[in-house]
Amino acid sequence: MKNILTNEENQQLVHAIQEAEHKTSGEIRVHIARRSNHAAEEEAKLTFERLGMTQTQERNGILFYLSLEDRNLVILGDRGIHEKVGEAFWKDLHHEVIRHFKEKHFLLGLLIGIQRCGVELQRYFPINKENPDELSNEISFS
Ligand code: CA
Repeated sequence: MKNILTNEENQQLVHAIQEAEHKTSGEIRVHIARRSNHAAEEEAKLTFERLGMTQTQERNGILFYLSLEDRNLVILGDRGIHEKVGEAFWKDLHHEVIRHFKEKHFLLGLLIGIQRCGVELQRYFPINKENPDELSNEISFS
């Protein structure tokens, strides 16, 4: 079950994250969990903290958390970006990504989700000068 994505597809996601983070201080991560000890929402929050995502300077990290066991997707935005885009954005984004997941287009769904987050992050947290990569772009697993 770990391999809903091939290694090559993982790399495509990493590349998409790099692209989305270009010209924004915002940070995006994707985490794929095989098993969860808690409900997906709760586990996503714990993962968000465990990955250090609450430590960004502008609190503008976004996590795509996939729980394979209960076939769930949680998208979490830290308070900086959440204040800007509001609840409606997350709902709409979730809806769109899930629509692709239901057709088993996992890569496409995530690519579109990452790209949409990049647009919002660049809008609200633009940066043209030095832009440290605060969080790794690699996909994480548990
Ligand atoms: Ca990053």
